[in-house]
Amino acid sequence: MINSSFKKLFKTQIDTFFGSDSLSLPCKLVSADNKHTECSNCQIDPMSGRSSGRYKVGGPFSFPYGQLCPICNGIGYIHSIHETSTRMLVIYDYKKWINFNQNLNSADGMLQTISKIEDNSKIQSANTLIVDSSGTYNYQNEYVKDSDPQPVGFGSNDYVYTFWKLK
Ligand SMILES: [Zn+2]
Repeated sequence: MINSSFKKLFKTQIDTFFGSDSLSLPCKLVSADNKHTECSNCQIDPMSGRSSGRYKVGGPFSFPYGQLCPICNGIGYIHSIHETSTRMLVIYDYKKWINFNQNLNSADGMLQTISKIEDNSKIQSANTLIVDSSGTYNYQNEYVKDSDPQPVGFGSNDYVYTFWKLK
């Protein structure tokens, strides 16, 4: 039976996981806007819509004519990318996942994270997770969001869990 002392135990236990010497990992949440923002550093070729290779006066990085614009790499527009770092419990073993419907999904290449409720909005707006961002970059650490974060905590909603799929 889920009574209040059980709830408290659950919360205490998960809080312990988030402690300093714990099972949680430093992770990076990345949200890339789908909107294209025209590059402010170069003149756009009206025919191709791409960078003309000419510096636009007032832009942050002057560059010689004919070279790739260092801001947009010659593409002519940029995605706005937001990154934020936080600690998450990262669970690779699907047998330990919370609320996983084993009939519906394949667990291949997937993981579940448990995060504090304070991180909910960060996860909502992110589409990519980089696990253990303390190490060197490794494409095997990059996951895309497979489900929206769901609250968990037996009524107290202290945490959210989220599924991610290997990119
Ligand atoms: Zn540019």
